[in-house]
Amino acid sequence: MKWNFRCAAFKILSVASLTLVFSVAAFGQRTALKPGWNLFSPAQDVELGRKVSQDAERQLPMLNQRRVDDYLDRLGKRLAAYAPGEKYPYQFKCVNDASINAFALPGGFIYIHRGLIEAADNEAELAGVIGHEIGHVALRHGTNQASKQQLYQAPLAVFGGIMGNDSMAGALAQIGGAFAVNSILLKYSRDDEREADLIGAQILHDAGYDPRAMAAFFEKLGTGNRGTDFFSSHPNPDNRIRGIEQEISRLGRVSARTAGDSREFQAIKRYLRSLPAAPKAAAARQSGQPAPSGTGGTASRPERPSSRLRSYDSGYVRLQHPENWRVYGEERDFALAPDGGIVTIGNESALACGGMMAVYEPVSRRGARVSLRNATDQLVEGLRRSNPGMRLVRDRGRIRVDGQAALSMEFVNDSPSGGRETDWLVTVLRPEGLVYFIFVAPEEEYASYRNMFQRIVQSIRF
Ligand SMILES: [Zn+2]
Repeated sequence: MKWNFRCAAFKILSVASLTLVFSVAAFGQRTALKPGWNLFSPAQDVELGRKVSQDAERQLPMLNQRRVDDYLDRLGKRLAAYAPGEKYPYQFKCVNDASINAFALPGGFIYIHRGLIEAADNEAELAGVIGHEIGHVALRHGTNQASKQQLYQAPLAVFGGIMGNDSMAGALAQIGGAFAVNSILLKYSRDDEREADLIGAQILHDAGYDPRAMAAFFEKLGTGNRGTDFFSSHPNPDNRIRGIEQEISRLGRVSARTAGDSREFQAIKRYLRSLPAAPKAAAARQSGQPAPSGTGGTASRPERPSSRLRSYDSGYVRLQHPENWRVYGEERDFALAPDGGIVTIGNESALACGGMMAVYEPVSRRGARVSLRNATDQLVEGLRRSNPGMRLVRDRGRIRVDGQAALSMEFVNDSPSGGRETDWLVTVLRPEGLVYFIFVAPEEEYASYRNMFQRIVQSIRF
């Protein structure tokens, strides 16, 4: 099950009514943001980021064009000079991938997909996304998420203050290798996204760009399907555009000397157009290379689910899951999987074995309440866009989840680790939107997983 369906909600979220009220500072006073709780030191952010960046650069199709990397690095460093908090050794490089995306590793290792530069109309739009990524670094979102994960997964001592400089490799092994770390480090919450947007707007303003370019670019990305890649790795906070606009109003007047574009940006765009077209990550995968991690020749099947259950409280829902599964994410966006159950391709994740929960916001006509069936149909349509091999095999009709009406259906789908998988979808309509759970197992083993999946669903409490 490809894991980028959150993007489908973007268009709807950006025009949704205001439900999330966050503390509004007085006019003219910018929102002050600080990094959250963290088991890592800032120096360890850099150490961890550097280690993962080396793996990433081996795995990703780096553009390796000095002219482009130099430009990104200069622009990025100029923006990063305005970032709050710790001064990280930022570096910026271009990935030769046509998808519109960017990602940041702890400590300031930031990657911009070629497709993003090509999609931006001017330098200010590009600077907006770079500012957003710098926000993730400055607010230490990656290691904050990793710190939270550790609470569920490993003894705290591993990451405690006693950790020496050279024990990072051991710590990485503990949480399953660089790619598992990668999928944690790049899994942001909606609050993280909102904060990164605000920092991005502040940086743009301070660096002399019109910060409205950032909101404009996000809006543009959200109105076509081209933007899905960015929003799959950067989930949409509620009312994203409005949040950015409110911050801009707090920042005060945009100065008259504001830069919107540069000749150099346009020259870089022309130069990129002169190069052979970039492959899309998905296309590269279909041609069999590069192999996603965890699915190489030596990969073994994920361990069988333990019959012993452990309780998990996401902050939104409580449930029980097999003791040998880990939790990725929290609140309304999380996955539960055994080692090897999440397959990472580039910086996209897909669930090959395990379960996940997310919330989908259905489109309603003129504010009318959407039915459970209608909302579920909309969700399935969205899922099919990123999972073209997905076919309904059994509509199991109505069931109950925590006493509430739910729908249950089973699909077969192409597995990200090769072969076919069975996906069990369970949907419940809640005030927050359509809450959905998807349980995934290899098709030939599904019968033996089904019982465990049902035990999990029976344990769900909102
Ligand atoms: Zn983000």
